Amino acid sequence: METSASLLEGGPLAAKIKQEVKTEIEEMVRAHGVRPGLAAVRVGDDPASAVYVANKIKACEEVGIRSEHHALPESTTTAELLDLIASLNSRDDVDGILTQLPLPAGIEERAIIEALDPAKDVDGFHPVNVGNLALGRPSLVPCTPAGIIELLVQNDVEIRGARACVVGRSQIVGRPMAQLLLQRDATVTICHSRTRDLPSVTREADLLIVAIGRTGMIRGEHIKPGATVIDVGMNKVTDADQIRELFGSGAGKRLDVLSKRGFTLVGDVHPAEAAEVAGRLTPVPGGVGLLTVAMLMKNTLLAAKLRRKISS
Ligand code: NDP
Repeated sequence: METSASLLEGGPLAAKIKQEVKTEIEEMVRAHGVRPGLAAVRVGDDPASAVYVANKIKACEEVGIRSEHHALPESTTTAELLDLIASLNSRDDVDGILTQLPLPAGIEERAIIEALDPAKDVDGFHPVNVGNLALGRPSLVPCTPAGIIELLVQNDVEIRGARACVVGRSQIVGRPMAQLLLQRDATVTICHSRTRDLPSVTREADLLIVAIGRTGMIRGEHIKPGATVIDVGMNKVTDADQIRELFGSGAGKRLDVLSKRGFTLVGDVHPAEAAEVAGRLTPVPGGVGLLTVAMLMKNTLLAAKLRRKISS
């Protein structure tokens, strides 16, 4: 496999962001006697959600954020969860509240998100924060797209005036991603499952951001030669033949991971084909995913500063 794309790794930037947050928190504790607090709320037994929340709690420990984990049973009702949110909203020692999605089917997700105090909504999902982002006003911004902007800026990828294409229009990734690119003066196209002739649209993009949830769907034919490609997708692949098809001659390491763990993580972009066409490419794992948690730490610090009117 002839590879030309350079890798945009998320790890070093995630470490840098967490170090900056840690330093600011130490200063906040010293100067104001305040330590930011994050409450993580998880409902049910979804193993992936349990891992995500554990990673977020671990990051809090690393940076000095006080954290608490509310793990509620699958049988929790919307009313019970609303009671918990109300009590977290009213507590002064809680600066950020995250409700790990997806919530079990019986719970009204929208009612829960709308019950959050927008000032503590560190995921940026509350309509007030979504609206502020759409209006181009300061707001708490969803962590994954905010991390992608940091990655582009830190790697000197030109956003202003660039043709950017976002594939996926979810509330969590696609839509806020498009808003953030627009704020930075990109010319933005949003694609989705009803887009006609997707490759002809994505091939126009200098900056292609993919958040679909379909393993390796974006192929070489979708990518403009030399484009920067950001792969948000995280899909578990368990089939050795599929791994060989996705990674070509580079499949060896992934097959090792498969035999050790029973799966390997692959993005929405076909890794071998994208490596041949793109100029820059985020790896999966090791790209965007690492930045999401770092940005949650940054958002929690920001929420604490705004709510407590601490300017530095
Ligand atoms: P959603 O399922 O909410 O949204 C998927 C989007 O992709 C929809 O807008 C859908 O279009 C679009 N889509 C689906 N099929 C096609 C297709 N064939 N062609 C074009 N568009 C299509 O997913 P999320 O945004 O929540 O997540 C996307 C991926 O990113 C997942 O793999 C997820 O695991 C990963 N992810 C990773 C994170 C990280 O930290 N790295 C964080 C969040 C998500 P339509 O609206 O028309 O249905």
